[in-house]
Amino acid sequence: MKYFILFGPPGAGKGTQATSMVEKYNLRHISTGELLRKEIAAGSELGLKAKSLIDSGALVPDEIVEGMIESEFRTVKDVNGFLLDGFPRTTAQAEALDKMLAKTSEEVTAVVSIMIPDEMIKERIKHRASIEGRADDANDDTINNRIKTYHEKTEPLVEYYKGKGKYNEIDGTGTIEEVRTKIFGMMDKF
Ligand code: ADP
Repeated sequence: MKYFILFGPPGAGKGTQATSMVEKYNLRHISTGELLRKEIAAGSELGLKAKSLIDSGALVPDEIVEGMIESEFRTVKDVNGFLLDGFPRTTAQAEALDKMLAKTSEEVTAVVSIMIPDEMIKERIKHRASIEGRADDANDDTINNRIKTYHEKTEPLVEYYKGKGKYNEIDGTGTIEEVRTKIFGMMDKF
């Protein structure tokens, strides 16, 4: 199985690009954000716990998302691999992922990182709020907190994966098609 990590700040266009990536390479898309929003919509205990954290722009505890990822890995077959979107988001999650994959002598194939500057993060999220109506997109404090959380907790993963020779960065400031073309050019190598 191939394990691609779709990396980048909130609003970089991960969800948008994921759709064509999973189709072209026959991957299963796992978005921890989407899985958490489903739990919230279902009103589960986990969803209730996650909601206040997500609405404040914080991360949910590592154990929760690690459990979700591992159960997805176990249940999905008939694909060439997985596209992880929004996971890992902390160094602890990256280490947990390495351990999970090591159990079956597997490893992360490559990190596809879509990069945009902070000013563009805000513009894109505001635009998305007007279309999708996500609670965590609507409020300035939440957005600022998500950007802060990204820089503090998630950005260190760039060095983590560079150190393993798995980091590939793509300029996410172009049009959807331009970014897609660059991503495909990169993924064709794996
Ligand atoms: P975005 O791509 O805009 O950052 P996501 O849909 O990926 O948004 O995630 C929404 C929220 O869900 C995050 O702000 C965070 O609170 C929570 N979340 C998603 N993935 C994780 C994760 N791997 N670890 C902790 N919290 C997560």
